[in-house]
Amino acid sequence: MDSVIIARRPTRQVRVGHVLVGSDAPVVVQSMTNTDTADAAATADQVYELADAGSELVRITVNSPEAASKVAEIRQRLDGRGCGVPLVGDFHFNGDRLLREFPDCARALAKYRINPGNVGRGAKGDDKFAFMIRTAVEFDKPVRIGVNWGSLDAALATRLMDANNRLSQPLPADQVMREALILSALESAEKAIDLGLSADKILLSCKVSHVQDLIAVYRDLARRCDFPLHLGLTEAGMGTKGVVASSAALAILLQEGIGDTIRISLTPAPGESRTREVVVAQELLQTMGLRSFTPLVTACPGCGRTTSTLFQELAERIQAYLRAQMPIWRLQYPGVEEMKVAVMGCVVNGPGESKLADIGISLPGTGEVPVAPVYIDGQKDVTLKGDDIAEAFTRIVDQYVQSRFGEGGSRRTAPAGKTIPIRQV
Ligand code: SF4
Repeated sequence: MDSVIIARRPTRQVRVGHVLVGSDAPVVVQSMTNTDTADAAATADQVYELADAGSELVRITVNSPEAASKVAEIRQRLDGRGCGVPLVGDFHFNGDRLLREFPDCARALAKYRINPGNVGRGAKGDDKFAFMIRTAVEFDKPVRIGVNWGSLDAALATRLMDANNRLSQPLPADQVMREALILSALESAEKAIDLGLSADKILLSCKVSHVQDLIAVYRDLARRCDFPLHLGLTEAGMGTKGVVASSAALAILLQEGIGDTIRISLTPAPGESRTREVVVAQELLQTMGLRSFTPLVTACPGCGRTTSTLFQELAERIQAYLRAQMPIWRLQYPGVEEMKVAVMGCVVNGPGESKLADIGISLPGTGEVPVAPVYIDGQKDVTLKGDDIAEAFTRIVDQYVQSRFGEGGSRRTAPAGKTIPIRQV
């Protein structure tokens, strides 16, 4: 299966820097740094790394005067390295003060994320929210109103709970809390419009940490507004749990056409690169047939017919190689992101799977002749043997890419409907 047609939910379209979000624009991959924003060099480095991995928007926390004072410098450092990825500023309790005191920060950011539950309570909170929205209007910036289960507007939640308790048949508490999340987002969006922010400058998110809650909240939210929605399971967790939970929730919503930007909120292991969340987001969209980012390797799981780790090592090596080449390849070889490579453990299913891929190899299984047939575009091309099969196969992949996706190559143009590049506006 190459691609699917999923009817996207019609929404308004919002421009975030040069990236268009919503409706038929491609679902955008977003990520967030975990550096101290006050450390401009470290933050610029991590933003660059995330953007290089394919993140199309990068959010940074703006939580203190020290952080706000460095945002413009971070933007300059990125521009100096040719990295134009739009920066999103994450504001909470003191966002109004930071935007007031650091206009360069307000100007350098491409979008503000405001959590209405963390702005402040009562009239004071309303004033702070109003100042942030008016700043967005002044600097012509879009805003994501990002509600979070963990910081839900307490007054709103209490109001809804009290009203629910007066019903003859009260709804379950979790249903009321979901409604409170949605109302917080929708009422804040209405307030922002009343304050002068164009509806075409608003995105919404309602993040929760449980899969079924997220699906229920977003289905309802999608039905009740036409703002683009940012999807993410908050506090998804570490390792496979975080990947599986995020994928389970987001895949269902994306399949229903809901979701215009996504983030996979993984907790990195100590020392682990932050870019894993970008890779997972891309692979989720690509394996669902929604977008293509990098050639993917199909590999069999291995079984009793494989007595060595050679094929696993080759599959891992080729996938890492393909991903590492993409920053250059995506410029030199348009369409290469659609390429499919198969690395199989024996000749039982290997040739069949190889024929379905653009280029495939079957390594020798137990009791088989120690040779590795390579198929290109469905035809057997060469049989490799010896100690340097991995090297030889990598060279063959390189040659294939050049001949098919290079200048004048037969696959220079991606098949229509398969790749939807981010629109530059
Ligand atoms: S392709 Fe061969 S090695 Fe891989 S799972 Fe199938 S039978 Fe086992």
